[in-house]
Amino acid sequence: MTTAFISHQDCLRHDMGSYHPESPLRLRAVDDQLIASGLISYLNHVDAPIAERAHLERVHSSEYIDSIFAAVPRAGIHHLDPDTAMNPFSLGAALRAAGAVVHAVDLVLTGKTSTAFCCVRPPGHHAERSRAMGFCFFNNVAVGAAHALEHYGLKRVCIADFDVHHGNGTEDIFQNDPRVLMVSTFQHPFYPYSGTESRSDLMVNIPLPAYTNGQRFRSAVTEYWVPAIDVFQPELILISAGFDAHRDDDMASMGLVESDYAWVTQQILTLAEKYCRGRVVSVLEGGYDLHALGRSVTAHLKVLSGL
Ligand SMILES: [Zn+2]
Repeated sequence: MTTAFISHQDCLRHDMGSYHPESPLRLRAVDDQLIASGLISYLNHVDAPIAERAHLERVHSSEYIDSIFAAVPRAGIHHLDPDTAMNPFSLGAALRAAGAVVHAVDLVLTGKTSTAFCCVRPPGHHAERSRAMGFCFFNNVAVGAAHALEHYGLKRVCIADFDVHHGNGTEDIFQNDPRVLMVSTFQHPFYPYSGTESRSDLMVNIPLPAYTNGQRFRSAVTEYWVPAIDVFQPELILISAGFDAHRDDDMASMGLVESDYAWVTQQILTLAEKYCRGRVVSVLEGGYDLHALGRSVTAHLKVLSGL
């Protein structure tokens, strides 16, 4: 079965200013490399629907959702924090980004495809239950995980996060939910300065020092993620796929390259084949060097689609 590639033109219209690294050019850079590699014609392209309010309310407070809807400016840019801002099209993009993951979960759990990649922005893993931060408004991967749990009645869902930043929002939303295993790696100490306090059997968040290379990253995955997933035996694996730990990405100071992203994708896929019929939903998070982002997503998708 071909991998679903879920995106929407509205995700290009969210723009926080020409200086901002989380820019529409990121999605164009991914497209560019998918075309150059020839991979684009092997993917099943799907338009992302808009997330319904009920989907968002599974992981965000009603007051918070109201505040995001109310914050949309008629013109110009409105800042929610120093890093996170809305233009008139940001809400539309955020609803498509969350809706993409809901749809990806639908496609995978109804057997229409076994793997899906949501090529969306704004990203989501910093968005907490009641707080926008770190370029994120709605926690896309959490909205998808909650859909799998609440709509399909899954009892065990794993979220694997290899973005260079800790997914504080995902931890905030699921930290007391025995149905969710979170495994992550992230640069530490580094924004958002979380992820080291509440380590538990279900919050396997592994801090890595600056300048960590691929070998050390792979060791962390093998030593901590794999045994935790073996014990948990998830029925679905979602990926918070951030590519900002790439050696060429100036946002942080890590040393991963495309082959490391291909390797970790293969590890996740192998575990998914072992425990959940290969069902994987991957969601774009960070990745700010445009060239490295395009190449890394291509490497990730090659493995995800079995090409
Ligand atoms: Zn990041």
